[in-house]
Amino acid sequence: MDLSFSKEDLAFRDEVREFLQNSLPPDVKDRCDRGLHPTREGQIRWQKILHEKGWMAPNWPKEYGGTGWSITQKYIAAHEFGQASAPIATPFGVSMVGPVIYTFGNQEQKDQYLPRILASEDWWCQGYSEPGSGSDLASLQTKAVRDGDDYIVNGQKIWTSYAHYADMIFCLVRTDPKAKQQEGISFLLIDMKTPGITVKPIYGIDKENSLNEVFFEDVRVPVKNRIGEENKGWTYAKFLLGNERTGIARVARSKRQVVRVREIAAAEMSGGRPLIEDPDFIAKLTRIEVDLMALEYTELRMLSMLANGKKLSAEPSLLKIRGTEIQQRLTELMVESLGMYGAPYEPERDYAGRNDIHPGPDYAHGPMAEHLYLRAATIYGGSNEIQRNIVSKMVLGL
Ligand SMILES: Cc1cc2nc3c(=O)[nH]c(=O)nc-3n(C[C@H](O)[C@H](O)[C@H](O)COP(=O)(O)OP(=O)(O)OC[C@H]3O[C@@H](n4cnc5c(N)ncnc54)[C@H](O)[C@@H]3O)c2cc1C
Repeated sequence: MDLSFSKEDLAFRDEVREFLQNSLPPDVKDRCDRGLHPTREGQIRWQKILHEKGWMAPNWPKEYGGTGWSITQKYIAAHEFGQASAPIATPFGVSMVGPVIYTFGNQEQKDQYLPRILASEDWWCQGYSEPGSGSDLASLQTKAVRDGDDYIVNGQKIWTSYAHYADMIFCLVRTDPKAKQQEGISFLLIDMKTPGITVKPIYGIDKENSLNEVFFEDVRVPVKNRIGEENKGWTYAKFLLGNERTGIARVARSKRQVVRVREIAAAEMSGGRPLIEDPDFIAKLTRIEVDLMALEYTELRMLSMLANGKKLSAEPSLLKIRGTEIQQRLTELMVESLGMYGAPYEPERDYAGRNDIHPGPDYAHGPMAEHLYLRAATIYGGSNEIQRNIVSKMVLGL
């Protein structure tokens, strides 16, 4: 594995840096740096800037509007985005359903949906989990029954991130209740404005509404909105999950968090000296940095495998486990480093436009929100216990 950057790669790095310096809106950067959920408007505004630059979909093939970047360039861009606190595009469209559509969809579906994902005209959400069907996803019960050129969909999804922002939902539905679990599932693309869909908010431990329940009552979905073959949806669903897990590791974001923890610990005092000089504190931070470096090399090895045309097996699961554990340890340490100012937390929706002052230094606003939200990181995208099961099966052959 050759880890040195060529002259062209370094020039590319400078181009990315300059673009981010000039084009990233300060308010979008500020929310991302603090670890607050994006606003719909801010996220779309930023994505449109990325689209105009042609950088909305680094992982897509060029023929569908991807950047055509090499694996090294993708790595460099991800690193620079993380360091600049530039949000990546919302994953549900560009990283999840987009690749499913260009890999398994028909021409009409590609023409209809892919340009709208690139231009951020459709905000997508993911309708996989149901009450009682999370880890055991194949037991899902939402039904789709054929009626002429339509399916009639009835059932419920849960934990649907940003469904209240969404224009479209991709859904796993049961189309053959008699078949073996995995064999009776289909993959549908559903317009959120279709009559019969109700979205109800769930407020998380961070008191935010990023999660929802989505109810389907006699929802008519054209058969032409089905991806691929009827009852073969599990194949497309698994393909999507591999992409989802790799993205969740967020190595570049964690590297930025290390810098933030260092900055905070340099400003905060403990026992009459800057916290950064406290041996216990620095030991904890160094341990995380070492683990993060190991994770980054694991990611680089994976990218190198992909560049050499090799197929991945349990690597996305490995990255997901370690990446999410590190994210949690980092925000925990950040809250700890803020001392008493780490504890006060008010829902961020009250922050925009507020005219009172947040207690403590400015950098104390955000870490608790992110710390609380990231408790879920070892659950979403398939819990870490499930990822360990995958590793034990695929790597250890257990
Ligand atoms: C913040 C957040 C955002 C989410 N966003 C979305 C979304 O946008 N769309 C969507 O479809 N879903 C989403 N989810 C749902 C997520 O994918 C599920 O929560 C996850 O798959 C776990 O399923 P569950 O909650 O039903 O827990 P369960 O499957 O009931 O698991 C409960 C516990 O048992 C453990 N467990 C279960 N089975 C096994 C096993 N075989 N071996 C070992 N341990 C096991 C699990 O690890 C977990 O600790 C989100 C979840 C969260 C928390």
